[in-house]
Amino acid sequence: DVFYRELPKVELHAHLNGSVSFQTIEKLISRKPHLNIEHGMTAIGKGQRRTLDECFQVFKVIHQLVDTEEDILMVATDVIKEFAADGVKYLELRSTPREEENTGKDVNMEIDKKKYVETVIKAIRQCKSEGVDIDVRFLLAIDRRNGTEVAMETVKLAEEFMLSTDGLVVGLDLSGDPTVGHGKDLLPALQRAKNCGLKLSLHLSEVPSQLEESDLLLNLPPDRIGHGTFLHPEVGGSQSLVDKVVQNNIPLELCLTSNVKGQTVSCYSKHHFNYWYQMGHPCVICTDDKGVFSTDLSQEYQLAASTFGLSHEAVWKLSQQAIDYIFAPDTVKQQLKQKWIDIQPQMF
Ligand code: IMP
Repeated sequence: DVFYRELPKVELHAHLNGSVSFQTIEKLISRKPHLNIEHGMTAIGKGQRRTLDECFQVFKVIHQLVDTEEDILMVATDVIKEFAADGVKYLELRSTPREEENTGKDVNMEIDKKKYVETVIKAIRQCKSEGVDIDVRFLLAIDRRNGTEVAMETVKLAEEFMLSTDGLVVGLDLSGDPTVGHGKDLLPALQRAKNCGLKLSLHLSEVPSQLEESDLLLNLPPDRIGHGTFLHPEVGGSQSLVDKVVQNNIPLELCLTSNVKGQTVSCYSKHHFNYWYQMGHPCVICTDDKGVFSTDLSQEYQLAASTFGLSHEAVWKLSQQAIDYIFAPDTVKQQLKQKWIDIQPQMF
């Protein structure tokens, strides 16, 4: 539907390596034929579902395909342009700084975490200089699997880049396999991030039985929540968790296709968007991993609308309100709000 494509949108939950499109995967596969990777290993097609564990295997395959500076630059540039082509006007990309040794190749192919971040920043700047109509910011991701020290190292890297990039790096994400590692080990790093002015978006209660961890992390409190699938009492969460989210007015980043394909939500109509949206709580529709889950943000808005009976006006309001929950400063919010005002007459 053309309405959803033309709708100006804000994307706040997009993992870089999960967002790689079919076309870009094609280019990567042709660069690395020796890996014997096929499309079926990097994306979950229409009607298919995987366990969350299998989804994390997919990221490992993509990481094999994206392991040089050249790859990262191409992937980031393509992803940004694809979001822009889908009508996204403001994008917060998140990615886990990685080091790759690329043994056997020349030294220039080596990449460390700092170089990784620099390369993503380079892609953002390149798109900007080409006049791509999208404002892009970057969140450094902490993979919960890697523990206390790496988390602290990532925060320090984010601090450095926040200062040196003039606000392109706006915060941190906590993600990775929710069944591995403990939030309490990461608290000092997250606290430090908060103290130095970095914003926090944390994956919370993506799977059941994370109540204690979610409670602990909500005390920070984070600036936004990723998924929050099992926070509310109807799915085994608790009223006190809901109260903390509501009292702190913490927006939720909600990814319908990702949750259904990853099987943490049984079907679209049972998605927790309904619970929070009905309550009038801040909700932002996001893609999570548009490549892996074969979707885009227009499709996610359309899916939310058709599943929960939202009018075009309600969808417009949803995309407009997302501006309030971005991590970039107020001046950027004002610019975006003006953009929405300018576009509105063409839409209705
Ligand atoms: P990258 O950080 O750019 O390499 O993007 C892929 C990474 O994002 C994965 O290895 C995970 O750590 C993280 N990720 C992507 N989707 C999810 C999710 O649904 N839950 C938790 N972590 C995720």
